[in-house]
Parts: sequence; C-alpha cells; structure tokens
Amino acid sequence: MNLLLFRDDLRVHDNPTLAEAARDGFVPVYVFDERDYGETRYGTEKTGAHRARFIRETVEDLRSSLRELGGDLAVRQGRTEEVVASLVDGYGVDTVFLQTKPATEEFGRERAVRETARAEGAETRRLWTHTLHHINDLPTPPERMNDTFTPWRKEVEANDKPRETVDAPDGIDTPSFDDGIPSLDELGLEPSEDDGRGALGFEGGETRALERLEEYIWERDLLREYKETRNRLVGADYSSKLSAWLARGSISPRRVYEEVKRYEDERVSNDSTYWLVFELRWRDFFQFGFVKHGSAFFAPGGIRGVSREWRGRGERFERWCKGTTGVPFVDAAMRELNATGYTSNRARQNVASFLVDVLGVDWRLGAAYFEEKLVDYDVASNWGNWAYQAGVGNDSRDRYFNVLKQGKRYDGDGGFVRTWVEEKEASPNPHEPYAPEGYDAPVVDVRTEYDRLAEERG
Ligand SMILES: Cc1cc2nc3c(=O)[nH]c(=O)nc-3n(C[C@H](O)[C@H](O)[C@H](O)COP(=O)(O)OP(=O)(O)OC[C@H]3O[C@@H](n4cnc5c(N)ncnc54)[C@H](O)[C@@H]3O)c2cc1C
Repeated sequence: MNLLLFRDDLRVHDNPTLAEAARDGFVPVYVFDERDYGETRYGTEKTGAHRARFIRETVEDLRSSLRELGGDLAVRQGRTEEVVASLVDGYGVDTVFLQTKPATEEFGRERAVRETARAEGAETRRLWTHTLHHINDLPTPPERMNDTFTPWRKEVEANDKPRETVDAPDGIDTPSFDDGIPSLDELGLEPSEDDGRGALGFEGGETRALERLEEYIWERDLLREYKETRNRLVGADYSSKLSAWLARGSISPRRVYEEVKRYEDERVSNDSTYWLVFELRWRDFFQFGFVKHGSAFFAPGGIRGVSREWRGRGERFERWCKGTTGVPFVDAAMRELNATGYTSNRARQNVASFLVDVLGVDWRLGAAYFEEKLVDYDVASNWGNWAYQAGVGNDSRDRYFNVLKQGKRYDGDGGFVRTWVEEKEASPNPHEPYAPEGYDAPVVDVRTEYDRLAEERG
C-alpha cells in the first residue's frame, strides 16, 4: 500500500506523484497543518481567512475529483509527520509519496515526514512537480544558477523545453473516509466576505482553475492582448489571474504552457502569448533561487547580505497595512488586498516600494503581511519578489517606484482609486495625497520623500 501526501499539488491532471502512487492501492491525505495557522514571529497570521477559505474549497474539489475516479481523500488536522506516521501504521503503508518544495519550512516538514515514516517502516519518495521546467532538465543546476533573471531565462529558453503533461489516472483504489473539512472557525479564523469589488471571485479548486484557463485563453480570447493589458488594475480581464490556483497546484504550469502552445498553433502567436510563458519562467526563477539560497531569502539583508537600518512595527507599518497612508494608489491597493486577498502585480510592486523606500520599514514585515493576506501566496514568489523590491534579492539595481507618477500613469482616470478609497470617490484629483478618515494628514510628506530618494539614488 502507498500513501500520497498532497501538498501544493491539489489536482488530478498532470500530477506525476498521483500517477505514481495510484499504480497500487494508496491512502491519499491532505493535512491542515497546525503550524500553517496562527501567529508568526512578525505578529501577522501565517494564513489569513481569504487563503484559508480558498484552500478549503480546493481540498473539497480535490476530494470530489478523487471520488469521481473511484477513490476518496483523508482530510486531517494536526502535524503532518504525525498524521502520516499514524496512517502508515494503520494501513501498513510501504511507500510515502509527496511533492517536494524548496523552502526552509517546507523542506523541514519533508524531513520530518521521512523520519517518522521510516520509524514506521516505510520509505519516502519525493517528486519535483510544481515548476514549468523540471529541476533535472535545467542547463545549469540551481546551485550554480545565475542570480539575474535575464541571463538565466535566456539559457533556459535556449536549452530546455518543458516536459509533457501527465494524464490523470483512469481509476484509483483507496480506502474510504468520512472526514470533515475543518471550518475557518476550527482553523482559528474569522470568516471574511469578498464584497464583490474584487478582480475575480477566486474560488478554490482544479475545476474552477481549468474553467478560468479556458475562459481567459479561448472563450474571451484575452491572451492575444496579455502584454498590453497586464499592467492594468481593475477587473478580471487584464491578466490571467491564475496565480492562486498555480500556488496551490490546482493547475500545473505545464498545462498552462500546453494551452498557450495550442492557442499559438490555432489562433495567434505574438508577444503576448510569449509573455505569459515568460511570466511562468519568473515563477520558476524564484523557485530555483530558493533551492540555491535557502533560508538566506528570509534574512534582513537577503541573499546579497545588504546591510541597512530598517524601521520595525509602528504607525507607518500599521497605516500601510490598513490602507490609510493618505497616498491614494497605495491605499487603494492595500484595501483591495485586505478585502479580497488579491491585488495586481503593478499594485504589489508599488506598495512594496512605498513600504521599503519611502517609509523605510523592514521589508520582511511587508512580506509577512502579504503572506497572511494573499490568496495566491507562494513562499518563493512572495519572499523572492519582496527581496527583489527591497534591493536585497535577485537584482543588483536599487530601483524604486514613484507611486504618485505610477498612479497617474496606470490609473489615469482614477478608476482604481475610486473603487477602493471612499474618501476619493468624488475627488477631481484622485491621485493627490489626502487625509484618510480618522487622520489629519498623510503618513509622510510623500513629495519630500521622493526628492530625498532622487537625491540619494539618482
Ligand atoms: C511584492 C510582491 C509579492 C508577490 N507575491 C506573490 C505570491 O505570493 N504568489 C504569486 O503567485 N505571485 C506573487 N507575486 C507576483 C505577481 O504579482 C503575481 O503572480 C500576479 O500578480 C498574479 O496575477 P496573475 O495570475 O493574473 O498573473 P499573470 O500576469 O497572468 O502571470 C501569469 C503567472 O505567472 C506567474 N508570475 C507572474 N509574475 C510573477 C512574478 N513577478 N513572480 C513570480 N511569478 C510570477 C504567476 O504564477 C502568474 O499567475 C508578487 C509580486 C510582488 C511584486
């Protein structure tokens, strides 16, 4: 008997771990690990309500898919390695299959699973399944990869083609379970409602992920203009919105890639179709970067060991979190994030730059806050992008965003700000700094701060 520990691979299509485990009878299990819920060392929640809701829906959908294949899914709460040990013992399991992920805590948990499984007499097999390019196919192993994206990408583009997707099994043989899926309350969280202003009502699960792919690429034909629209800020159409499903593995990047290739053959091949795959390579770049640098990604000075004084928690950070800085573009993005668990890439870059460059607050607090809120949180994408933005990560350039200019450029008509910042609803100058409700003034004089940055960094 095998055991399949589902992690961020919550799908039946293109799931090599499932395909391997299902060659025999197996026990499939998903664990809501208690260490993924609760307070972090930064005073934030490790998983907030938006993502917890999304994960619940994802697990429910996976269980339905496994039942359609003739099997079932065990759903447990506790510590992963203890749950695995008790199932190994209870079902006489010989081999535990699981997805491997490169970050510190994830890796630590894999080690713990291997040890407890071994103590019960089972061996463990780990499979790399979450990137577009397979780790073993890279022209240069991750340990020696280039830390700058462009040369890394060019080398990968020239030398590797993603592996083909793997079919879902025709049928599976598993025990039956009558486990409930823990409620938000049981996970220690208050439910949170999306009020309908969000870019997309993100609903967890492979079913919805595949529908979104179909809708974005084929039905709405939006891929053909992805490159031109991807920096927009409002609505469902401007980018694929696949991130939350990719992060939980409800859709595989190779599946997205194959669909893009089919679209290129059947409809159009242009800069936009290339660019979606280009973004998936950014995603890969951070995953492999974590293999190379490990826990250095969480150090204050990042992978480059930059030494800089940062501000800790305090009014600046609190107002940034709540979206009450008095800088409209920042507040709109933070309020969108708080209300929905999502905000666009352009908005993320701006709020991150504002926190670290203008407010001088420790980038790790920002990353931890995003970790709590994001529905699409992924350890490597989040901490990698934050480090990059804070100037301690993969880019040696110390670039900052002028959020006033960016707001006017990407939200010229103020539609984004007016959607999220009530105080600006009727304002003729949506991007002019303002005093948010409950405050007398913006958190800093932002124009003076940009003069300072221009002088310091050019
Ligand atoms: C400070 C900061 C934190 C971020 N945290 C996360 C995170 O936790 N999880 C996450 O998935 N993305 C993160 N991103 C990257 C990016 O903002 C989101 O992937 C993107 O906005 C999701 O929307 P989409 O699916 O419509 O993207 P699209 O533009 O349609 O891109 C397609 C896919 O490519 C991948 N991708 C695109 N841009 C990036 C990028 N810069 N880095 C890594 N992958 C990328 C995503 O999987 C995305 O779904 C972060 C960016 C910043 C600046």
